[in-house]
Amino acid sequence: MKTIAAYALSFASLCAVASAQNSSPAVTVARWPQDRLAAISLTFDDGINTHLDFVGPILKKHHLNATFFVATGMGPWEKRKPEWKQLALDGNELANHTVHHPCLLEQITPHSQDYTPAMFEAEIRDAALDLATTLNSSRGLTFAYPCGNMSFGKPQDEVANAALYLCYVSEYAFAARAVGSGAPVNPDDLNVLAVGDLGPTAGKGFPALLAQAEPAFASHNWGVFCFHGVGGDWLAITPEALDELAAYLERHPDIWTAPFGDVVRYMQERK
Ligand SMILES: [Zn+2]
Repeated sequence: MKTIAAYALSFASLCAVASAQNSSPAVTVARWPQDRLAAISLTFDDGINTHLDFVGPILKKHHLNATFFVATGMGPWEKRKPEWKQLALDGNELANHTVHHPCLLEQITPHSQDYTPAMFEAEIRDAALDLATTLNSSRGLTFAYPCGNMSFGKPQDEVANAALYLCYVSEYAFAARAVGSGAPVNPDDLNVLAVGDLGPTAGKGFPALLAQAEPAFASHNWGVFCFHGVGGDWLAITPEALDELAAYLERHPDIWTAPFGDVVRYMQERK
């Protein structure tokens, strides 16, 4: 229950806002850079071979940049570091998806049910350090929750661990992608540590992917695609589907296609 003091305080802040509105000149900052209609981010999870084999070349062909959420302990990151570095040099964002991708799904190993808080923090910290060292960058990182789970540990610890998870993420990342309701993100309603995506993409062709993005165009909001494999690996779309989507975005410069972290930075600077 709110105390009288709390009511007085909210009233005081309302007054401050009202007087600021009366005295400051009207300043309008564009919703998106260069007054573009909407924003789209293409994000690719897990740090897998098909990202290097197919996604990098398709992005380059269409002059687009994307975000790669890399699980640094899954193999392809260690084995193909020069190619990942080149993706970053080409303007793409490489970001944190933990070391071993622990999550609560029964069919995925390692199971995050077996994790202590210290183990889970190490997953996020060690991946962040590896990315920063490899990319020789002091730019902040973003994060994506493995399997979209926002907690870990035994069922009875999940509520407390959810709060710890957010602490660890906020320590090593300035924004995080969650698994969303499928709706685009309104920049005035941004939850920076749980940015929702446009929903499942596995097996979809270009028309279905475009249909997922259209609500973002219509509402002038931000649509965040979450992809996994392309032409292989898992939960895949075909290279042709990605190529058509990338060609569409290239033909529509009124849509701002940018890495996940760049869009968050713009939103925060705009405010
Ligand atoms: Zn993943």
